[in-house]
Parts: sequence; C-alpha cells; structure tokens
Amino acid sequence: MDKHADIIVHKLAGGAPREGETVSCVVDATRRTNITKNHSSTHILNASSREVLGSWVWQHSAFKEDDHARLDITHHSSLSDSQVRQIEDTANGMIRENLPVSIKYFDRGTAEQKYGFRIYQGGVVPVKSVRIVSIKDRDVEACGGTHVKKTGDIELVKITKTKRIQDGVVRLEFVSGQTAFDYQRRQALDAEKKADENKQREELQRRREENKERARKEIPVLLARVLSGESFESDGITSRDKRCFVASKDRGEYFHLNFGKKVATNDGAAFCGIYQAEKTVRVMVYSGSQSGIDASIIAREVSAILGGSGGGDAGFAQGGGRDTSKIDEAIAKARSMVFG
Ligand SMILES: [Zn+2]
Repeated sequence: MDKHADIIVHKLAGGAPREGETVSCVVDATRRTNITKNHSSTHILNASSREVLGSWVWQHSAFKEDDHARLDITHHSSLSDSQVRQIEDTANGMIRENLPVSIKYFDRGTAEQKYGFRIYQGGVVPVKSVRIVSIKDRDVEACGGTHVKKTGDIELVKITKTKRIQDGVVRLEFVSGQTAFDYQRRQALDAEKKADENKQREELQRRREENKERARKEIPVLLARVLSGESFESDGITSRDKRCFVASKDRGEYFHLNFGKKVATNDGAAFCGIYQAEKTVRVMVYSGSQSGIDASIIAREVSAILGGSGGGDAGFAQGGGRDTSKIDEAIAKARSMVFG
C-alpha cells in the first residue's frame, strides 16, 4: 500500500484484473490493529501532554505506522525526563481507566460551538459534517481515522524518545500495544545487564584496592627475605640466590611494579613476574646489573609464547599476550629462565 496525497494505492498480488472481474481483498488485521492502537495513542498522548505541560500544547503533526509512531506537539522547550514520565503515566492512566472512545458526526458550526477550535488538532477539515472522536471528556478532536473502542484496548503506551525538532515543536516517538510490551522487556533486560556490569566493575575495583593494600604490607617483608638470599617457595612466590619469581593470581600490576623495582636496586638480584590483567597475561622483569639475567630476553621469549611481544633493556623489560591458554607454558618457561 502507498499513499499519494489523498489517494491510497493498493498493490495487487498477481496480474491486473479485467474490468468487471470480481476480486477478493483481505485486510492485514494485525497491521491494521497496530495502526489503530497507535492512532488512538496519538490522541491520548496529545491530551496527556496538554494536561502535563499546559494548555498551549497543540498537535503540530503526527505519523503512525504499525510498529512505531510519532506525535509532534507545540511546546517551547525540550522535555525533561520527569515530564516525559508524567506524560507517559498520564497516558497509561487513561488506558487503565478504559475510557470509551466515541465517534459522532456534527454539523461543522455546531461542533465548533460545542467544543471550540481545539477539535482541529489535525488541521482544519473543509467539510460540512465533521467526524468528532472523543475520549470521554479528556480529548475531543475532528478526525477521520480508525480508533479503538475503549482506551483499554491499547494496553500500554511507551514513549521511546523525545526531541525538540524545531523552534517551539517537540517530537514524541512512541510505541503501543504488543510493541510497547516488547520495548519494555528490552529496556528491563538492558537495565539488568547494566546493573550486572556495574556490579562487576565495582567488584574488580574492590579487589584491586584489596590487593594494593596487601602489597603495601607484604613488599617490605618479602624484599628483606629475597635480598638476604633466603630460599623459599610459598603462595606463588619462589626465591633463591636473590632471584625471585612470582606467578600468583592475587597479585597484579601494582605489586609487580613496586616489588620488582625494589628487588633490582640490588645489583645482584633479579625479579620476574607473570600475572593476568583482564584479557591479557603480562610479564614483567627487573634485573640488577650483576645478576646475570637479561630482562629483555625473558620478556621477549615469554611474550612470544603468549602470542604477543615484549621489549625493554637488560635492566627492565615487559610484555605479554592475549593467549591466556598458554599461561602455564609461559610460567614454566619464565621460571626456567630465571633459575636455569
Ligand atoms: Zn486522529
């Protein structure tokens, strides 16, 4: 179906019929029902906007399809979130009240006298007899469109977007009926997802803070043990002959940066650590000038196992890669390079 000004052109399935031939036509019931709901919603939203914003609100123009619709109203400024919510609530209130939608024909003069010029929300209609659509006493308009019998038939209306489209005109985009329920469900899922993401982010941040706090406490103690040449292996930390290797799930960047740097201030000491940072595995190497370890070689070779690259100089080098499945192999390689 196409619209050309006032003429509605329907497309035919199959060839053109001969003159006088009988053709059977079928109305697309779902599409028609949806457009009907959207049309009645337009009147309801127009009335709701007027009730919430003020008497100056007038329908500037409207557009309705079966899956979305819009109403442009005259209003001086963009709508706030709270105004949009109030308009939507008022509209859904009218739907819940299940108000009757009545259609009556009046002689033009009588209609204007009885209801005023407000009836011409969709523009002045140049006909003698006007078709008046009233939603109880909440909205009265001259309108030729199809409407629901009672506002409850619409079930639900949701405003999906509002925008000031020109000076003094605000656009309300909306959906109604089943489309509104679908929209509402999508919104709820999105909100849930966002809340989950926030929770995860907060949890990550909390863990990071905890690890930092722990690192501040353990670094001085560990440093003294490593630099004394003590041999020990515990909690992901291995130390022998002033060489220290760390592969621990609970220790992140903060620990490695601060601990490694301090270890390497001793010429004969070296540090190598492997840790996971979100989706990548990182390797960090610090070595004192007399330690016999070249940090750049370890960083390069371990990074290659992880599918990434590393670089630096003999005293400090770092790198990593995204292939987290190779983390055990990377740890084994790094450990053997530190301890031989
Ligand atoms: Zn209408």
